[in-house]
Amino acid sequence: MTDKPTLVKCLVWDLDNTVWDGTLLEDPDVELFPGIRETIIELDSRGVLNSIASKNDYDLAWKHLEKLGLAEYFVHPQIGWGRKSDSVAEIAERLNFALTTIAFIDDLPTERAEVNYHSDAVRCYDATQAGELTGLPEFSPEIVTVDARRRREMYQASFRRDAEKETFNGPDEDFLRSLDLVMAIKRADEVDLSRVEELTLRTSQMNATGVHYSDADLRKLLADPDHEVLTVTLTDRFGPHGAVGVLLLERHPRLWHLKLLATSCRVVTFGAGAVLLNWLIDEAARAGGHLVADFRATDRNRMMEIAYRFAGFTTDACDCLTVLGEAAADGLQHLHLVADRRDASTTMSLTAPELAVAAETAVRPG
Ligand SMILES: [Zn+2]
Repeated sequence: MTDKPTLVKCLVWDLDNTVWDGTLLEDPDVELFPGIRETIIELDSRGVLNSIASKNDYDLAWKHLEKLGLAEYFVHPQIGWGRKSDSVAEIAERLNFALTTIAFIDDLPTERAEVNYHSDAVRCYDATQAGELTGLPEFSPEIVTVDARRRREMYQASFRRDAEKETFNGPDEDFLRSLDLVMAIKRADEVDLSRVEELTLRTSQMNATGVHYSDADLRKLLADPDHEVLTVTLTDRFGPHGAVGVLLLERHPRLWHLKLLATSCRVVTFGAGAVLLNWLIDEAARAGGHLVADFRATDRNRMMEIAYRFAGFTTDACDCLTVLGEAAADGLQHLHLVADRRDASTTMSLTAPELAVAAETAVRPG
């Protein structure tokens, strides 16, 4: 048995004699090597980002990439006269990726050595290997989710959003309103679950329970009438944020038990967690019930505890808790709330299933 290599999340390309056959400054009509376009597009469709570290004139090189129809595929291109190790480090920093997930391809051994001298974590490939990359395990994620396929689009949307925020004058709430945020909560299907698995693995700090439900666990519950598995996506006028949350709820008569709530740290600043909790509380109120959330403090989910407290959850005792049995055994707390009606969010619009209606149907005898 061999360990699977760490997946590459971003491949950084040299241009001259790597992407194209020649030197742009000597030949303004330099052409792509065969197969390069296909490789870039294939990696992009797998959710592997492409970037550039090239010693070239920026305007000239970018215009040429536009002419070749490839410019849109590259994020944070570093084209100039600096060291390639600096370019690679800059790309990793802007993407917030560890260097172990960055790869670099260049025809010059000296450039590869320079990059590796500053960080041996970056995997370097010779330009002659370009055609093999898509066959290598480090470039081959097992599951390519909907979000992975449009990862570049999501990053590019976030760059535009961040740039707009930099120049926005006014309160944060006004900026949020200007985004036209739409949160979509839906009952999960099989496809959604592959998206949220990635999410729950990456967002442990926002996992309120500190308990991981595997993809298989959640799949089993999809058909269970007592459970709701819900996924949350967020979109705004700049583009998609992708899947940003997952929620597992077990219904008891008069009591809804929130067993899992994980939201992406990417959307904390948009207040997505609070909007989601308020929606759930309102639904529970319409069903006339109490709400209990599992919570286990970890050193990374303090934000979630604050969100629960802010929403009104307490550790106070309530008769409804007897249904759930003892919680304290392994540090698990039951945070409790008598659900009350909540106002809709003023910063985003929401589409969601009507849980309350289904709940009434579920508890009605006969
Ligand atoms: Zn209660």
